[in-house]
Amino acid sequence: MRIFSGIQPTGRKHLGNYIGAITQYVEGQDRGDPAIYCIVDLHAITVAYDPRELRERVHDTTAVLIAAGLDPERCVLFRQGDVQEHTELCWLLSSVTALGELNRMHQFRDKSAQQRELVSSGLLFYPVLQAADVLAYRAAEVPVGEDQREHLELMRDVAARFNARFGEDVLVVPEHRIPEVGARVRDLQEPERKMSTTGGTEQGTVLVLDEPDVIRRKFKRAVTDSGTDIVRAPDKPGVTNLIEILAVARGVTPEQVEADMRDARGYGDLKTAAADAVVEWLAPVRERYDELRGDEAALEEILTAGADKARLMARETLADVRDAMGVGPPSTVRGGR
Ligand code: ATP
Ligand code: MG
Repeated sequence: MRIFSGIQPTGRKHLGNYIGAITQYVEGQDRGDPAIYCIVDLHAITVAYDPRELRERVHDTTAVLIAAGLDPERCVLFRQGDVQEHTELCWLLSSVTALGELNRMHQFRDKSAQQRELVSSGLLFYPVLQAADVLAYRAAEVPVGEDQREHLELMRDVAARFNARFGEDVLVVPEHRIPEVGARVRDLQEPERKMSTTGGTEQGTVLVLDEPDVIRRKFKRAVTDSGTDIVRAPDKPGVTNLIEILAVARGVTPEQVEADMRDARGYGDLKTAAADAVVEWLAPVRERYDELRGDEAALEEILTAGADKARLMARETLADVRDAMGVGPPSTVRGGR
């Protein structure tokens, strides 16, 4: 089964990305045939950004992913901008994507409200490019966090509509894979919002590469709720978030954390326990990152080799899509594949 997921090179990655996506990527390497992971530089240009920094951020993200356990020998790890089939397929899929649906996407609404100067049409088109990313590989499974559920639904609609209009079985309709715990890690300062690269608070966002004392300070200041019970509840988003983070970092269930915390003296104990567990969990990742990040030539080599593998797969799909749509010369003229 093919697995595909993409991650943005905007800024450094945070605990939400780590729990919601990256740990699933690592696990997917053993099931995926292959598991394909893409650093989506073309998605990052849909909001204001610094062109001089974009490649740096791609290298940061590549090093974080490898430090977290991605093995370029066991998965396909590449940069989106290196495989031009993504952008071509994005355009071709636009013919079966409804404008009204794009307009309704929550991410578009949230991110366009944050833009000060320009709401780019790229922001509106983001889910179409995302659909192209996945559909170009005919991936069956897409590991993502809860916030991407809506985009996955759109992608499934696009694939199904394409097949209905241009030919059954040209594209694979993918399934999402959302973790049971930690699918929506919340901002520690504003627990009603998800922890986010571009939208969250600085103190509420725990970065994978934060120093231990910074991580401890952020947890110490986490906003909790009134009351003292350490249990998950819909009206306790802050406490629920800390329980879930602690559970994932310790590798136990949230029920187990609630049982362990029964004798705690209050939320302070929960914050300390969560901070300690996260510090211990992320320390080896930070150490490996420091070893990897300096060698940019090696990182580029990994991305180039990954793109070569990815391109072969995407090309096959694109040839079938063009054929089905009547775009370009017929396959008999193009020669057999
Ligand atoms: P932005 O806020 O700019 O969209 P991001 O923090 O969502 O950035 P992405 O690179 O867009 O980062 O997301 C990468 C993956 O991490 C996606 O699968 C997404 O669903 C997941 N993810 C992002 N934030 C969280 C979160 N708070 N909890 C769980 N998963 C998350
Ligand atoms: Mg995102």
